[in-house]
Amino acid sequence: MATQSADRKRCLSCQHWGGERSVGAEPDTVDYLEHNDRGTCNDGGWHGSSRCGPRNACGHWLKWIALDMPAAEPDTPPDATAAP
Ligand code: SF4
Repeated sequence: MATQSADRKRCLSCQHWGGERSVGAEPDTVDYLEHNDRGTCNDGGWHGSSRCGPRNACGHWLKWIALDMPAAEPDTPPDATAAP
């Protein structure tokens, strides 16, 4: 697993990128697999190109919306002290 910061404004952290990725553990980071780091640019500067990867970028970069979503709350176990 590799990680890239959105500060670099590369395809991996772009809203238009269609490759496989997940939100990283650190804020504004993207996790991806180095052997599967290419994806399609959808509606961006390289629209239709499937060769976009961690070293590519363009002036249409738009931050991946998932990076600004609040982190999911961990499952909370039922309160064992609560009255039935
Ligand atoms: S080429 Fe530009 S618009 Fe397309 S995914 Fe990369 S940064 Fe985003």
